[in-house]
Order: sequence, then structure tokens, then C-alpha cells
Amino acid sequence: MGAIRLRAPGKINWTLDVTGRRPDGYHEVEILMQSISLWDDIVLTECDAGIQVCGNAAEMPLDESNLAAKAARLIQDQFGITRGIRIDITKRIPVAAGLAGGSTNAAAVLAGLNALWGLGLSRSRLAELGTALGADVPFCIYGGTAAARGIGEKITPLPPLEGISLVLIKPPFGVSTASVYQSLKVDRIPLHPNWKKAYDLLAAGNFHSLRCHMGNVLELVTINKHPEIKEIKACLDKAGASVTMMTGSGPAVFGVFEAAAHAQKAAEKLKSVYSQVYCVSTCSTGVEITEGGSL
Ligand code: ATP
Repeated sequence: MGAIRLRAPGKINWTLDVTGRRPDGYHEVEILMQSISLWDDIVLTECDAGIQVCGNAAEMPLDESNLAAKAARLIQDQFGITRGIRIDITKRIPVAAGLAGGSTNAAAVLAGLNALWGLGLSRSRLAELGTALGADVPFCIYGGTAAARGIGEKITPLPPLEGISLVLIKPPFGVSTASVYQSLKVDRIPLHPNWKKAYDLLAAGNFHSLRCHMGNVLELVTINKHPEIKEIKACLDKAGASVTMMTGSGPAVFGVFEAAAHAQKAAEKLKSVYSQVYCVSTCSTGVEITEGGSL
């Protein structure tokens, strides 16, 4: 029986714009996505039959509703595989935070089972399969930095923005992505961010001008429901962040810092106020096999 170990990084959005609503209710988006150095460890161990999920986070379901289990079921069904799999998830990415925790776990299972069961699927085929599980799954297969269009599933990989220091704060509550999108009035978005300008400024290390072009149109919606997010942004600002923003539908918020040492110092200080503070940096890869095979 084989086993494989993977690293599944979370993601933030440098920009998140909603450009329309489709007749099927999904929103058309333009997002500049970024992998970060905060990851879950996933171990896949082959067994005789079925799908079993084990994990260390109380908020994460361990039944068939877990996105990792759904990914395994998809592979079994698509390729007529009768062998079973045990999925062990060591969670570090906060759950329901806007950091794509479930999506990156699903992406890791797709990539891991592709290797474990010798399916020979390309990254683009894995990303295509992942779309059925969630709009963020394709990005998590590629990772690094990418522009996402459509409902977030059409990915254009960009030269990765690597090694940018961030301080991430997760307030002590979760947010439902669906309810945030439901509350958004698409025709009343006051300011649309510009992902291309934000990308160019980040690539040039010009963090001061970022404020004008970075932006997340869901931020105001979530702040309306949870004003604490505004306070967290103010704290990050005060701690010296060049710019602060909520990621995805929230509620996690990040601040961009020019120097790693400065970010570290700010994170230490903020830990006396908030219990979930992470000092991370941007990275160039998505899900990766760390033991037992290769992508
Ligand atoms: P999304 O934007 O897709 O809603 P998110 O990044 O904000 O996701 P997740 O950590 O993926 O948040 O959690 C969203 C919901 O998915 C949670 O309510 C959680 O119970 C459920 N979930 C299912 N599988 C997983 C998983 N493997 N890891 C984390 N959450 C999961």
C-alpha cells in the first residue's frame, strides 16, 4: 500500500473585483491571487476501500462534506478506482478565513492521487477537474501568482511575486463566502481595483503606491457585518504596514511590510491583542509533493 505526503499552501488575493453576475447566480470576478507560506500537511495512505478523513481542526468536517474527501471521490468515480484512501490533514490554515483552506486541501488530494495511482494527468487537466469542486481549486493546483477570471477558475499564471512579507490576522469568527456574495450589490461597487497596476507595483517593490490599486470589493460588505475588521486594519496600519486588506470574503486581514524583520516585530506586538497572528511571506508554488512521489 502506497503513501504520499503533500504541502498545501493557502492563498490571499492582492486584488478582488466583481465585474458582473451570471444568470446562474455565480459572480464574474477578476482576482490577482497569491500563494503564501502558511500550509496544511496532507498524508494520503492507500487502503482497501472507501475514503476516510482525519484532522486536527475542530471546525473542519471529517465526513464526506470535507472538500478533500470530495476530491478523492471525484478521482475514484472518474477513473473507476476501487481502492480506498485515508486522508490525514494537519491544519495550520485557519478555517473559513478567506485563505482557501478547503480548496488547497482538495487540490492536494487531486495532485497526490494522480501521483499515487499513476493517472498521468497534466496540471491543466487537474485544474479542470478541480473546477467541479470549487472556483479556487484550479489556482491552488498552479499556485504562485496568477490572474483569475470567470468565476475564479480561469487561471493565467504570472511570474511569481516571491518573498514579500505579510502579517496575517484571523479574527475569532468565520465568514460564509456565499452570504458575502449574496449581500454584494454588483451595480453599486464604488471603486474597482486594477490587478495589472497592482501586479506591476508589487513586482517593482513599490509598496507605497499600492494603496491606490490594491482593493477587495467584498471588504465593505464583510466590514458592514463585522466592524472588527476595520479595527484590525487600523492596528496593522499603526504597526507600519504599507497597505492592509481583507483576503477573499474574509474575515482574515493582511498587511504588507517592506522588510521581514519589521513584519516579525509587528506580528510579535499584535499577538498581545489578537490570538491568531501569522508572519508569512508570498511563495512561488501551489500544492507540492514532499515525500513519496512527484507532480
Ligand atoms: P471559501 O472561500 O471556499 O468558502 P475559505 O477559504 O473562506 O473558503 P475554508 O477554510 O475552505 O474557507 O472553509 C470553508 C468551509 O468549508 C468551512 O465551513 C469548512 O467547514 C468547510 N470545509 C470542508 N472541507 C474543508 C477542509 N478540508 N478544510 C477547511 N474547511 C473545510
